[in-house]
Amino acid sequence: MSEKMLKFTQLDQATPVKRLENERKKDFNEIYKEFISEKAKEQSSRCSQCGVPFCQIHCPLSNNIPDWLKLTAEGRLKEAYELSQSTNNMPEVCGRICPQDRLCEGNCVIEQSGHGTVTIGSIEKYITDTAWEKKWVKPIKVIKEINQSIGIIGAGPAGLACAEELRKFGYQVTIYDRYDRAGGLLIYGIPNFKLEKFVVERRTKLLKDSGIKFVQNFEVGKNKTLKELKSKHDAILIATGVYKAREIEIPGSDLKNIFPAMNFLTASNKKGLGDKVDLFDDGTLNAENKDVVVIGGGDTAMDCVRTAVRQKAKSVKCIYRRDRENMPGSAREVSNAIEEGVEFIWLTTPKKFIGLDKVSGLEVNRIKLGAPDSTGRKKPEIQQNSEYSIKADMVIKSLGFDPEDLPKLFSSEELVVSRWGTIKIDLDTMQTNMDGVFAAGDIVRGASLVVWAIKDGRDAAIEIQKYLKNKIIKKNKEKAA
Ligand SMILES: Cc1cc2nc3c(=O)[nH]c(=O)nc-3n(C[C@H](O)[C@H](O)[C@H](O)COP(=O)(O)OP(=O)(O)OC[C@H]3O[C@@H](n4cnc5c(N)ncnc54)[C@H](O)[C@@H]3O)c2cc1C
Ligand code: SF4
Repeated sequence: MSEKMLKFTQLDQATPVKRLENERKKDFNEIYKEFISEKAKEQSSRCSQCGVPFCQIHCPLSNNIPDWLKLTAEGRLKEAYELSQSTNNMPEVCGRICPQDRLCEGNCVIEQSGHGTVTIGSIEKYITDTAWEKKWVKPIKVIKEINQSIGIIGAGPAGLACAEELRKFGYQVTIYDRYDRAGGLLIYGIPNFKLEKFVVERRTKLLKDSGIKFVQNFEVGKNKTLKELKSKHDAILIATGVYKAREIEIPGSDLKNIFPAMNFLTASNKKGLGDKVDLFDDGTLNAENKDVVVIGGGDTAMDCVRTAVRQKAKSVKCIYRRDRENMPGSAREVSNAIEEGVEFIWLTTPKKFIGLDKVSGLEVNRIKLGAPDSTGRKKPEIQQNSEYSIKADMVIKSLGFDPEDLPKLFSSEELVVSRWGTIKIDLDTMQTNMDGVFAAGDIVRGASLVVWAIKDGRDAAIEIQKYLKNKIIKKNKEKAA
């Protein structure tokens, strides 16, 4: 035990209470930091430097994990930070919210040999949080300004990562977003207990200080069409995410107190940011003292149940039509929810909502899993005469998201989308069928992960740079001809 830690445990019991409290608080903070730092070193030194970096291969950003773990183990944190941020625009965000069990950590050789993974995500978070604290994270200093501009639609992780990379090259970048704050789902989707909002806000500020312009409360399709925006810039990136909530068509859907997941999460996040939210303040979107039922089994559903627990709901249930093994979200998130007291009702599907004006419950059916469907997953089949009811005075629907109808919304009917409504791009150039219009993130992949959005944003920046350079070459040739 370190000297400071010993002092902490041996604080003189006779000290006046207030002084003791203050001393404890001060010492606790110092000791806590020291403890975390020791823990990070200890964990980093567990990396066997195995030679075949499966962790790195399974990180979408190909982060150089073994090398920054080695640097951390040696106490060379600044170098670890430099290396970590060279492939990731938001390492402290990914360290907090990547489903590491499915990505880097799940493929750690030590984990595979049954000795428990190196906690890569926590170390990544620690390295960059330390970098912020020590002021190593600095705004971009552009060496040579380039007189070409890019308009980015969407200030989520894909748009932000692309903007940062383009600004590093020296381009003039403006981000347009329909929300009042930047961050996309990082700010209004993902709850504060998973990703503290100051972490997102300091990133956005850094980009502003780097010379990137943000135009908030600006909806493309309403304030300007895509073509109008395009005429202002040399290139455009569409990074609008997917926001159309999937619906459940059963009787009683129009009863009061049945909400889409994003309404519930956005209200909670806005409240956490200190905003006045009428529908929360009057109790409508507040789960306190209510019997809450969340329908769905993905990560968004887990965020809803865990938010409801924190709002002091009377009870929180999650109903999902398949079993635990077949839940689409992170297994870690499900375990967290169970630990926090959420009751899971697997192999169950809603048949109708019950109530007069407001919802008072759900009638549900039991499910059995049948033969695998075309995707290889066992098909849920309703068991006849298996109805029973569950009490609920608040229901949150979390059945996934689809893209909005962007060609219509943007008044650009020629913009080609897939049969799911995601934007089609040339996978080599990331360009849509419209010249100079690129796309990245969830709007191309469908609902995915932050780390993939960052990867797409970075890739798009490289492709946009190539496009803009070619544009100048072409112009010069035309002039010369
Ligand atoms: C509740 C929830 C929890 C999640 N938790 C996790 C997690 O723990 N880990 C993880 O890795 N991933 C998680 N995800 C997924 C992750 O948030 C997304 O994959 C990621 O944010 C996608 O990034 P994006 O930049 O493509 O889009 P978004 O983050 O959705 O950003 C798109 C932006 O575009 C703006 N926009 C849309 N249309 C317009 C328009 N017409 N004009 C102007 N602006 C527009 C929006 O306002 C928004 O700011 C979660 C998703 C949800 C919904
Ligand atoms: S970005 Fe995500 S997958 Fe990659 S190392 Fe960090 S936590 Fe792991």
